[in-house]
Amino acid sequence: MTRIVQAILPGLRQIFGTQGTVLLSSSSASGLMEGSIRNCVAQRSLHLVAGAFGDRWRKLAEECGREPDAIEVPPGEAIAPEAVDEALRRGRFEAVCLTHNETATGVTNPLREIAAVVRRHEGVLLMVDAVSSLGGIPVEVDAHGIDVCFASVQKALALPPGFSVCAVSERALQKARSVKGRGYYFDFLHLAEASAKAQPLATPSVSHLVAMEAQLQVIQREGLERRYARHAQMGERVRGWAAERFGLFARKGHESNTVTCVANTRKIDVAGFIEKLKGRGFQISNGYSELKEKTFRIGHMGEHTLEGVEALLQAMDEVLAS
Ligand SMILES: *Cc1c(COP(=O)(O)O)cnc(C)c1O
Repeated sequence: MTRIVQAILPGLRQIFGTQGTVLLSSSSASGLMEGSIRNCVAQRSLHLVAGAFGDRWRKLAEECGREPDAIEVPPGEAIAPEAVDEALRRGRFEAVCLTHNETATGVTNPLREIAAVVRRHEGVLLMVDAVSSLGGIPVEVDAHGIDVCFASVQKALALPPGFSVCAVSERALQKARSVKGRGYYFDFLHLAEASAKAQPLATPSVSHLVAMEAQLQVIQREGLERRYARHAQMGERVRGWAAERFGLFARKGHESNTVTCVANTRKIDVAGFIEKLKGRGFQISNGYSELKEKTFRIGHMGEHTLEGVEALLQAMDEVLAS
């Protein structure tokens, strides 16, 4: 076990852009999302909500007995760094919680700019949900001064679901020491201790560790820069298709390179469209929650290729014409 953990930690550090601690969790990322609150927020967190996943984090903080506040923008919009600055001037917060890539709306929030704002406010931690960006869109934990950055492995890292990873800063671990009731399974201090010994905290999902060692080699071979460029190409191609036939739901300049949210301007029957595509061997998603039928989402992350995307776009055109 120690050998595999030792083999995967350097690759994960590279993807996170950190020299620091990386935690492994045999849970999906929602576990670490809860852990981020239980470890790093005693009372007040500021949530930057641009869609359903950001909202889930805020609600989760409430369910943990905290008193979260939020900056909320209409779906399709991105969080403005100035608004974060203003909120941090007005109120006292222990942490800012940012969904880097809002999978529900296909919006990528300006991580670098928001991080720069948070770093100007001493004592405030920056926690980032990078679930649908890590491995597809650059995330620079050390360069941006991110304190907690978690991701599932089933999105842009293209592994089976049920495992997640998290980069934590010394500041975050220091904060955790002062927060009571961290629990056991998602206690960052226990998890960091285990990581330092290259050991799992409890019985880990061994199959995920084995698969991750292989997948990190695939990512290494492609190279991170090329991987990001491939995602950018796929994003651009899908946006071009969507803009010609429908509209883009994400505000211009903030469109995601891992998932495109298409505005259903032609009022097609989205569920039926998805069913017909499934018959051709392709899977896309309906809009998330209240965006169902109003939008549909095309995922282009992980090991998908531009050729694969072209085949999907052609199939969608054929279904639309039929
Ligand atoms: C999928 C997703 C989650 C939830 O991750 P799980 O692995 O299902 O726990 C959280 N945030 C974002 C942005 C996501 O895309």
